[in-house]
Amino acid sequence: TAADAIVAAEQLMSARRAYDVFRDELVGQVDPGSEVAAQWSAVESDPDVVGLFGRVDAQIATLVDDGVPDDDQATDRSLTELDITGEAEFFLQSIGAVDRHVAFTDATADLVKVEADALHEAADATRDATMLTVAVLSVLSILGIVIAGRWVVSPLRALGDGVERMRGGSLGVHVDVVGPREVRAAAVALNEATDHLKLAEDQALALAAERLDHPVLAQSAPGALGASLQQAVGRLTESLAEREAYRHRLAHEAAHDGLTGLANRNASLLELSSAIARVRRAGTELAVLIVDLDGFKPVNEQRGHAAGDRVLRTVAQRISGVVREGDHVGRLGGDQFVVIAEPVRSLDEAVEVAHRIRSTVAGPIEVDDTQISMSASIGIALADAAGLSADEMIRDADLAVLQAKSAGPGHVEVCDAEARSQLHHRVGIEQSLRDAIARDELEMHYQSVTDARSKQTVSLEALVRWVPPGGKMVPPDAFIPIAERTDLIVDLDRWVLRAVARQMAAWTGHPQLGSLPVAVNLSARHLSAPTLIADVLDALRDHGVAPHRLVLEITESALLGDLDRAARRLAELRGYGIRIAIDDFGTGYTSLSHLRRLPVDVLKIDRSFVANLDRSDDRSLVKLIVETGHLLGVSVTAEGVETSEQSDILEDLGSDHLQGYRFSRPVDAATLETALAPVLAGPAA
Ligand code: C2E
Ligand code: CA
Ligand code: CA
Repeated sequence: TAADAIVAAEQLMSARRAYDVFRDELVGQVDPGSEVAAQWSAVESDPDVVGLFGRVDAQIATLVDDGVPDDDQATDRSLTELDITGEAEFFLQSIGAVDRHVAFTDATADLVKVEADALHEAADATRDATMLTVAVLSVLSILGIVIAGRWVVSPLRALGDGVERMRGGSLGVHVDVVGPREVRAAAVALNEATDHLKLAEDQALALAAERLDHPVLAQSAPGALGASLQQAVGRLTESLAEREAYRHRLAHEAAHDGLTGLANRNASLLELSSAIARVRRAGTELAVLIVDLDGFKPVNEQRGHAAGDRVLRTVAQRISGVVREGDHVGRLGGDQFVVIAEPVRSLDEAVEVAHRIRSTVAGPIEVDDTQISMSASIGIALADAAGLSADEMIRDADLAVLQAKSAGPGHVEVCDAEARSQLHHRVGIEQSLRDAIARDELEMHYQSVTDARSKQTVSLEALVRWVPPGGKMVPPDAFIPIAERTDLIVDLDRWVLRAVARQMAAWTGHPQLGSLPVAVNLSARHLSAPTLIADVLDALRDHGVAPHRLVLEITESALLGDLDRAARRLAELRGYGIRIAIDDFGTGYTSLSHLRRLPVDVLKIDRSFVANLDRSDDRSLVKLIVETGHLLGVSVTAEGVETSEQSDILEDLGSDHLQGYRFSRPVDAATLETALAPVLAGPAA
């Protein structure tokens, strides 16, 4: 139909237009000199292709004609006019054209692919370049941010932190000087400020700790603050230094002896305590030496205190000069020095030090224009396994020095274990005796002295006894020698004098005892004691006893030291009417000629001669003593008369009085009173 023809024509025209569009596009895109362009023009000029398009164009024209509406038959007719030969040729031409196009497509596909790949690659490269640019730009901007942060923000933040910490009181803060100029300037200022405050704080701390030598105190901060700070520091330092010097002087004075400059007793004891702790840790030993000058007192009294001081200073220097390096030298007081030898390997080493001290002290000491020679007694105590304390060691050394003194001037004694036990025993006795005296635990016994011819009691000798409460009576031999080592004997003598005077007063009015003289033993130490005269006279006066009723017995050995001095004291006593007896005569080898210089009333021949009266030489000696005594106007008493033979011989030899168990043992006052009753009753009966 006409309508169908129109539709077909339109279809063909549309296909033809589509082909033309494709062709134009291809030709437009392809480089005219290229292989594709050459191929394409081969396709366009192909006879099949040309024929086909000719036919298509013709067909279109035909179909357009057939489509005219007034002629339906013509369409039908044209269709019918299509012959089979023409149709086959058209078909074959179509196939040829298609083949031709397929061949073109095949031939150019690879070329197009190559082109496309090239194009694709170019596109990729462009994309990569863009991406890289973007990435670089991003990194750069991040870096920029970071750098900007570091450069500006973090220094500012650090500065802020620093200020904050400073406000919080922390002065050790230092901010890094980084960032822009303004920030750096602020950081420098902040650091300087903290430095100054830190300096102020350090100076304050040094002052608070009183470390005046601290180098920080010499530093000064710049500016007004620094100046006023420095001024304050200077003033404080000065006053602290003054206080320190004062304290130092006080401490030195408290620990040192003003005269010799040596450590004093307290400081020496402290030093000894730490030395003991040291040697105990180290497992070594130490020795304490007490150096006691002999005869210092007379120097002080006779030559004056300046001379005494001179002697002490010289001795202090000399001792310091001979001890070993590191040994401690101190002054315990008076004429006593202490040396702490630490460590010592043996006792010998300590004794060696003692000998060096002894010989250096013995050198002549120049005082004014004369020379004085001194000697020193030295006591040594060793710190052994006993683990002694400082006080105990000093006490041991003290005991040793006492022992040394009693052995005579210039002796060295060691307080070893045995000596210590002996000395401790002695010290124990001393202590209890002191208590006994205070508590009146002593008691007097009396022994009568008999007239050799009439056998009448002419006097009594008072002999002390120690009666500990609930204990056995202690004989004087067990404690008198111990008491005699110290001034304790003076206390004891004083006690005895009072007890005897009281007893004599109690006997007043007694027919016989009321008039008998009583002899009291006086120790050598008491004889030279400054209190002697007062002790004796006070006792007599306090009890209203006449001095002529008191006899004082002094042993011959007590007079040996300084005969003239002793003679002066005895004369003084005799001046008061007190009589003097020389006890134990014959044992001390006082030459009889000395006797002439001594103001004495009685000689008491020692009982050792009486015990040996069977020996003719002893008998001769007794005879000599009796005759010399009589020549000098002195009465003679023989002691220790135990037998009637001894009594007879002594009577023959001219002894005036006799004393001994033959007549009476020493008895207490009550016993004496009863014993004397029959004697009293005798003549009356
Ligand atoms: P002394 O002064 O020679 O005293 C005489 C001593 O001989 C006494 O010893 C006495 O008991 C003892 N005796 C008396 N007759 C005989 C005798 O026939 N045979 C023997 N074997 N001995 C006799 P006592 O009482 O033990 O006194 C010893 C020493 O103690 C005294 O010797 C005296 O030196 C001292 N003493 C005693 N009492 C005191 C005192 O009150 N003060 C002081 N300072 N010394 C005293
Ligand atoms: Ca006596
Ligand atoms: Ca005697």
